[in-house]
Amino acid sequence: MKIRNIAIIAHVDHGKTTLVDELLKQSGTYRENQKVAERVMDSNELEKERGITILAKATSIVWKDTHINIVDTPGHADFGGEVERILNMVDGAIVLVDAAEGPMPQTKFVVGKALKVGLRPIVAINKVDRHDARAQDVVNEVFDLFAALDATEDQLDFPILYGSGRNGWMAHSPEGPDTDGMKPLLDLVLQHVPEPHVEEGPFRMIGTILEANPFLGRIITGRISSGTIKPNQTIKVLHHDGTVLETGRISKILAFRGLERQPIDLGEAGDIVAIAGLQKGTVADTFCDLSVTEPMHAQPIDPPTVTMSF
Ligand code: GDP
Repeated sequence: MKIRNIAIIAHVDHGKTTLVDELLKQSGTYRENQKVAERVMDSNELEKERGITILAKATSIVWKDTHINIVDTPGHADFGGEVERILNMVDGAIVLVDAAEGPMPQTKFVVGKALKVGLRPIVAINKVDRHDARAQDVVNEVFDLFAALDATEDQLDFPILYGSGRNGWMAHSPEGPDTDGMKPLLDLVLQHVPEPHVEEGPFRMIGTILEANPFLGRIITGRISSGTIKPNQTIKVLHHDGTVLETGRISKILAFRGLERQPIDLGEAGDIVAIAGLQKGTVADTFCDLSVTEPMHAQPIDPPTVTMSF
């Protein structure tokens, strides 16, 4: 399976939700997803699986046989450690900026972290349909922001797209053309964002997002660094000092598919998955095969964020 993992960074109201919706529609991911849902319902599985279609913090879009996992980033400094861990799961980012408002002070923090972990963002100037749009000025402001945040030459040489999420297009020039819709952005992601870095060896994954789910219990999301994982497999959790926190059986593996998460039979290196069934393992711990003895390096953490999902 071909995979790209990206983060989307945008100030609130700059059009993130609208853009992702349009990407889902135009890539056909919605249709694919609906088919899956119908099939599940036909076989009366839906009842059994109730509780898995919980609100996801990531979306997955299929484009040219590649799963593009798009992870949302919390918008402000209160989530410092979490932002850093999330950015460590991805290999690229889209910085989405309103063509009239320009980059806002609140996005500075997340953009700074993204540059620091070495991502080379794609800059998408959105809402160019606004009568007060000033796309070229905003590009300069983004450049100045990156430079002030000590971006490298490679990072300053960012690819730029202009468009209107609401009108369903992104293009290489602010004037359009709009006939290609979101294709330029989707193609650019495949071209500009590297494939996920995977290592040799048995299953290993750093816990990145912890949730308490009313149906599945404790769910931990992360990017699989090496190996594969299957439901019912027994794994262990290593604390950063190498102690074994617990050994337990995985009850379910969920992957992002469209806007929902769906159970999968095999989790592969490079993919971002959520696993249920463990009792203690948390953010920054190493979830791994029983043969692994060394924990992976994780970002230093503040107290783990527990998110309730409904
Ligand atoms: P989010 O907070 O970043 O997720 O932003 P939303 O997608 O919810 O959009 C915020 C507001 O901007 C909504 O009123 C949208 O209709 C509007 N909006 C989104 N995309 C565009 C666009 O391309 N052009 C214009 N003019 N408005 C847009």
